[in-house]
Amino acid sequence: MNDNYLPITLPSRCIPYEGIDPDSVKIRSYTGADEVFLSEINILNQTSKFLFILERVMQGIDPKILTSGDKLYIMLWEYINSYSETVFEKDICSGCMQEVSFTVDLRKMDVVKLPKDLVLPVEVTMEDADPVFLKLLTIDDELHVQDYAATHPDSHLYKLARLMVDPKLDLLERKAWLASCPAKVLAQIRGKFGELYHGPSFSANVTCPGCGREDVIEVPFRFEFLFPTGETLADTFGKGI
Ligand SMILES: [Zn+2]
Repeated sequence: MNDNYLPITLPSRCIPYEGIDPDSVKIRSYTGADEVFLSEINILNQTSKFLFILERVMQGIDPKILTSGDKLYIMLWEYINSYSETVFEKDICSGCMQEVSFTVDLRKMDVVKLPKDLVLPVEVTMEDADPVFLKLLTIDDELHVQDYAATHPDSHLYKLARLMVDPKLDLLERKAWLASCPAKVLAQIRGKFGELYHGPSFSANVTCPGCGREDVIEVPFRFEFLFPTGETLADTFGKGI
């Protein structure tokens, strides 16, 4: 058992978590017992399985209320602290124009934080309508959206409705309201939601091993940030099982 819980500074700054002391939020790196569950993760069950793992490794917060941005940051934190701070990313160097394998130090990846003075819910001013108020997407929302999507075709609207805060309308009423709105209203809501992104930047400063040129490359989120397998495992630890 790993009892070495470390403080973690989340990109949300804990602004969305009422009553949670940011100093009390702690995390530990994975153990073999956690890997049992990590190894069972696949594309379909990743949110629920990862939540289960977060419940094992985190203290000071109910992981269900974590924002999706904080979740991504925690995935990266766990990769760095449990496996390796380095990943290898193949890309074309803009200096020598060759495909090279860049060494990426994940510890140096920029993290986008929520603005310190952010007030939730966030007001979205509309050009031709009353303002709409938004909250941030959480792991709990992700699970609900996933369940809903399994049996309904309009999960796009359901997801936006979950993000809306309106004490006068319940969830289904908000969804019906969105369905009746001009698409432009939804575009403004989606645009504002995008502005609230917080979490890893998924871009990194790298040096070309061939010509030495310094560059910034995209390091897209990949499934192996949860649990290294395949090439990610092979690059860092050997071919593996
Ligand atoms: Zn180069």
